[in-house]
Amino acid sequence: MTTDAFSSMLKQLDKAAQSLGYSREEYEFLRHPEKELTVSFPVVMDDGSVRVFTGFRVQHNSHRGPYKGGVRFSPSINREEVKALAAWMTWKCAVVNVPYGGAKGGVICDPKELSVGELERLTRRYTVAIMPLIGPDKDIPAPDINTSAREMGWIMDTFSVFKGNTTLGVVTGKPVGLGGSVGRREATGRGVLYTTLEVSKKLGIKPEETSVAIQGYGNVGSVTAKVLAESGFKVVAVSDISGGIFNPEGLDLGSINEFLAENPKSTLKDYAAPNISHITNGEILTLDVDILIPAATGGQITEQNANQIKAKVIVEAANGPTTAEADEILEAREIHVVPDILANAGGVVVSYFEWVQNLQSFFWNEQEVNERLEQIMVRSFANVWSVSKEKGVSMRNAAYMVAIDRVISAAKTRGFNL
Ligand code: GLU
Repeated sequence: MTTDAFSSMLKQLDKAAQSLGYSREEYEFLRHPEKELTVSFPVVMDDGSVRVFTGFRVQHNSHRGPYKGGVRFSPSINREEVKALAAWMTWKCAVVNVPYGGAKGGVICDPKELSVGELERLTRRYTVAIMPLIGPDKDIPAPDINTSAREMGWIMDTFSVFKGNTTLGVVTGKPVGLGGSVGRREATGRGVLYTTLEVSKKLGIKPEETSVAIQGYGNVGSVTAKVLAESGFKVVAVSDISGGIFNPEGLDLGSINEFLAENPKSTLKDYAAPNISHITNGEILTLDVDILIPAATGGQITEQNANQIKAKVIVEAANGPTTAEADEILEAREIHVVPDILANAGGVVVSYFEWVQNLQSFFWNEQEVNERLEQIMVRSFANVWSVSKEKGVSMRNAAYMVAIDRVISAAKTRGFNL
């Protein structure tokens, strides 16, 4: 993601706040995160040496509830990016109307170069470093890029050991045997499916006649591909960090997943099958497909490639995949963009379900989780779609309008006086 992710976010915020008729004074507080913490901490490496790592936790806004948002491990993460990601969490929670504010965390590291033991020590040290900020009624981390249930289990354990009591609700996306919710791992991908089905209905698109390309094959991209294929869409291309594979007749996802499971060190560039061509991560974005789903990192659709995109619909499974400049180009080209803060909100919705289950010590089954997720995604999509039609604005602007209005109303109702 480019370092100007935060300025892209500010542009989107300004545009929506102005469309809503708010003066700058009324929403200026949303242009600044409430709290930013940078931490550095030592980690003992397997060879006995000690390395210092730097991490962040940014809390953007808490007017609607405790801060909520993931923690990512990435060599290229920086504070400005984490600020943007924290603000996007505020809008995401507001657009689907779950009672949270927004936060995000990150550690500068390359998990590929770390052993499991090193990763565990890093995660625990980071947890201790941000401990003053987090808690089940304060700020609740979750998985994001390069973090999963395993890391969430470590965070929960470290927090609990220091507090002296097991505190399941301090983090979501935990292992199911440790207070995690069934359906959480698949939730973002399922949410992308529900919004893709809704936009398809509105545009008269039939899944069986629709080709889809998905950039990114991590937790979000791989589940999205699977559930879209199960619903009849033709997934013709997927990619990971090594590049992509393309078959205009549709990919055999079962065989791809089997290959990756049997060869854990392999990437998609090592996968071979008849009629498959290997493409780059740039090429996957400009394939002649009906629906494009960026599900990797931010800043992928830019003013350099936005004019070459051939898809009629873009469903943003990643956070911030489209720069503000590219967004204007897509809007002018009348490409339908289901924005990230709506399309990928399934993860935080089921995080909310997990947190509720933890607070009540009462667990739901997978059918209940998926049905409630579907209800929220369908309702939120309908809300954004109708604002977009009523006001004659893009779905992104409409989603921001819905979100920002909710946050400003909450702030005004609470009042600023102390
Ligand atoms: N990291 C996910 C996101 O960007 C999930 C956040 C959460 O569940 O708190 O939406």
